[in-house]
Amino acid sequence: MKKYPSIDLGRCNECMGCVEVAPSVFRYNASNGFMEVVELEEYPLEDVEEAIKNCPEDCISWEG
Ligand code: SF4
Repeated sequence: MKKYPSIDLGRCNECMGCVEVAPSVFRYNASNGFMEVVELEEYPLEDVEEAIKNCPEDCISWEG
């Protein structure tokens, strides 16, 4: 099964830090006000790891 990043939206504060670090992976959905993970064939490991490391709420993790 494919490994993909997931955001715990209950803890996310929409600081946009993950978008700055990995704009191809994370984005802000203005219509619902939540962050979301872009559907990709493959996720850039280093960028996601960097986003995980820098997330102030520690709410990004790998799934799958
Ligand atoms: S860095 Fe973490 S807290 Fe900030 S928007 Fe991304 S997932 Fe949410």
